[in-house]
Amino acid sequence: MQRVRVRFAPSPTGPLHIGGVRTALYNYLFAKKNEGVIILRIEDTDQVRFVEGAEEYIMESLKWCGIKIDEGIMEGGDFGPYRQSDRKDIYRQYADMLVEKGDAYYAFDTPEHLDKLRTDAEKNGHTFIYNAAVRKKLRNSISKPEAEWKNLIQKGEPYVIRYKMPMNEEIHFDDMIRGHIVVNTGTLDDKVLFKADGMPTYHLAHLVDDHLMEISHVIRGEEWLPSLPLHVMLYRSFGWRMPLFAHLPLLLKPDGKGKLSKRDGDRMGFPVFPLYWPYGETAKGYREEGYSPEAFVNMLALLGWNPGTEQEIFSMDELADAFSIERIHKSGSRFDPEKAKWFNHHYLQCRDNKQIAMEFREQLRAKGFHHDIVQLEKLIGLVKERVSFVKDIWQETDFFFIAPASYDKEVIKKRWKPETPSQLTELKSVLDDIGEFNPEVTEQTVKSWIEEKGYNLGAVMNAFRLVIVGASRGPHMFDIISWIGKEETIKRIDRGISIIGDQA
Ligand code: GLU
Repeated sequence: MQRVRVRFAPSPTGPLHIGGVRTALYNYLFAKKNEGVIILRIEDTDQVRFVEGAEEYIMESLKWCGIKIDEGIMEGGDFGPYRQSDRKDIYRQYADMLVEKGDAYYAFDTPEHLDKLRTDAEKNGHTFIYNAAVRKKLRNSISKPEAEWKNLIQKGEPYVIRYKMPMNEEIHFDDMIRGHIVVNTGTLDDKVLFKADGMPTYHLAHLVDDHLMEISHVIRGEEWLPSLPLHVMLYRSFGWRMPLFAHLPLLLKPDGKGKLSKRDGDRMGFPVFPLYWPYGETAKGYREEGYSPEAFVNMLALLGWNPGTEQEIFSMDELADAFSIERIHKSGSRFDPEKAKWFNHHYLQCRDNKQIAMEFREQLRAKGFHHDIVQLEKLIGLVKERVSFVKDIWQETDFFFIAPASYDKEVIKKRWKPETPSQLTELKSVLDDIGEFNPEVTEQTVKSWIEEKGYNLGAVMNAFRLVIVGASRGPHMFDIISWIGKEETIKRIDRGISIIGDQA
């Protein structure tokens, strides 16, 4: 059997959309599962749309995701070069081959003339299509005698090479996701294969490259499905063996209405790109928003594919093991920003507390707090479950570092009773007498004191939380006080009694 060789072939026209990352991921998983090879080919034949920095962005994004490329610009390989602009000299001979065979022709129509034909047709409620029905009336090597068109070429008249699409033929082909497809060539036009600027179009370039690079499976976005009949015809004309095709469904907006766009992300506050895009109109990235690559990849893998089980958490290796093209969905997948957070929450829980503490320590330093890592590690253990991102730890832990500046009015109204100040004063001396100020000892001591006194456990603890935290939030009280220490605990009780005591 032929070795599996797949390619991810992005055009460097801007930041790589997460839909593109998913295409790369599915190619990677498929290659890994089948012990094959994944190639990264940069398709930059459209010089007008080329954007500086995009190529680096693509490579950095794949690296961040853990998608390891086997052959490419950086990796090398036996089928290079892997950037189409560096392969420029290869394509012309293939366009010529088709002209010689009679399956393509030279066309000299100026862009202005074609524009006019388009607008004239529109005015009459038609669409202009350059095809078998009209090509004889236009300026090309089919309509003109050989001597004439050869003369035009010699004179340096600009021309393109177009594919000569047959008039009325049924093309049958298969897509691994869509199944069997039949298209009549009458609905297709004579696509340009080679442009007047000396560059091939996508249709010719990608197909020649897929052939020369011995690609076995073409896994790409659904937007290319309408071009597949042309590609099938081209394979036939060349007499080349066709790869198998799989066209991936779209990534849809969260409401399911249309393709996921940057605007949706901006509007709803989530990124649609893997990394921050720093050029021109900047864009947010998953990496900079605090997502771990594992969470991002796991989320993306399940957007358009399912393992056929209830399992949702997958490492890259597990994904590769479970992956199959048969389980890719036919219809588009709605992007769910909440699910993305859910994945990040999961992966954050699996991370080492010390690592998280080190990241958090940087944030604290910027705020002017300096704590040793062991202490912070303990803190992370207390609050990790409550957050999905390292950047959210501060808002869950601010009261560990600063005494409350104010106290929640609702909680005061509900929890602060006339007897509260005296109970808290008693509590203060109970705490003061404790030698080993750890969660177990403080909890046991305080609870026995409450029981002995016959106080209401909830009432005392709620007021206690109010003076320590300033509101009714946060982890276990005895974890909090043992972290901030006896002295600080007592200070906060005093302060709370004196401030709230007057307000209540
Ligand atoms: N350069 C094309 C794109 O960026 C690749 C399509 C394909 O994979 O054939 O969409």
